[in-house]
Amino acid sequence: MAVQNPRASILRARVLHTPRDPFSDEAALDCHENGAVAFQDGEIIATGDFAEVSGRHPDADVIDERDAFLLPGLVDTHVHWPQLGVIGAMGLELLDWLRTRTLPEEVKLADLGYARPLARDFIHGLAANGTTTALVFGTHFPEAQDVFFEAAAESGLRIASGLVVSDRDLLPELRTTAAEAHDAALSLGRRWHGHGRLRYAVTPRFSISCSEEMLDSCGAVAAELDGSLVTSHLNENRDEVEAVLDLFEEADDYLATYERHGLVGPATVMAHNVHATDDELARMASAGTSVAHCPSSNGFLGSGIFPMRRHLDTRVGFGLGTDVGAGTGLSVLKEGLLAYLGQMVVSDPIRLTPAHLLWLATRAGAQVLGLGDTVGDLSPGRAADMLLLRAPEGSTLAATLARVESPDHALGALITLAREDSVAGTWVAGERVYPRM
Ligand SMILES: [Zn+2]
Repeated sequence: MAVQNPRASILRARVLHTPRDPFSDEAALDCHENGAVAFQDGEIIATGDFAEVSGRHPDADVIDERDAFLLPGLVDTHVHWPQLGVIGAMGLELLDWLRTRTLPEEVKLADLGYARPLARDFIHGLAANGTTTALVFGTHFPEAQDVFFEAAAESGLRIASGLVVSDRDLLPELRTTAAEAHDAALSLGRRWHGHGRLRYAVTPRFSISCSEEMLDSCGAVAAELDGSLVTSHLNENRDEVEAVLDLFEEADDYLATYERHGLVGPATVMAHNVHATDDELARMASAGTSVAHCPSSNGFLGSGIFPMRRHLDTRVGFGLGTDVGAGTGLSVLKEGLLAYLGQMVVSDPIRLTPAHLLWLATRAGAQVLGLGDTVGDLSPGRAADMLLLRAPEGSTLAATLARVESPDHALGALITLAREDSVAGTWVAGERVYPRM
């Protein structure tokens, strides 16, 4: 990792961020049209108008990007690194998609010659899409997960991830025993949890593929690794929910299959929760458990539309997840657009604003991952995790931005149109991680 520059730096750009929650505060969006962020030793020390920020830090190096937009680094709360190669596997719902396309792909990671470049491509893809923090679903193979952690550590990104464990239902290559899973997860966790910006996430694949004994071993690993996260899938697809209830006769609902093993708490992030019951939402709220909302994946697999209003009403926290490979790419901004579309077509629509979507793509995700004190907006005191967006010359985005009349409209255009080719730079803790200099 590069040695931090002891001098302050100033990034001059059009600054947009949401330090306040737009679901409770109408003035959530902060913008500085001729703005700047000053940072030093990895931390933001001033944010505001360029003249004021540069006046307070006259000796700082100035990076002049005044024609571009500076946002907080994006937060992806659910994405599978082994699934980069199955993006676009169309025409299937969850269980068939897993069986015919995805699990056979995941078996290939037994070969480190396959896994190593895949890990690098995936990590590169996160930074290239402006993602600075991610909770990444791992692989079933301990050696390949170790290789992933190596690549993640080298990248400087804030990554939480872990070995995926299962002992039934899947292809034999992807199964292990509860005892083996426990030891392998603990050994990876002891090696990588707290190493640089990495954290360990205890990761049972989903209740269909995990016996009670396996879920119990996951609870034991979580208890042994202080500060680790827990992540899995919940209430994604109706057939999946039915299969879980058939397998766990004593469980009243899907959430209960995890609760019984100590896997539902404030450090737990459950992906999807499209088909949640009222009782599950109430229990998640009181446990402080959060949700990764993955709108493109939910559409792609025909899973359904996320009940956002019910999550808001019950105060169950949620952020955005790209859920590659059922998701349609690594852009968290695009997930914002798809969340917007989904909530516009439900019977009781939520008319989300650009500020809501930026909040979900940044600060809400940071809170979901337990990093609300560290990242998610560009306020002084936060880590300098930033994303610079510039419309490619001649693009539709450039043509739109030339005509918008307010920062709010500009943000709406960025969320709708800015993708990988608009990402001009990504910084984590003040260190440029993309493109590498
Ligand atoms: Zn997933």
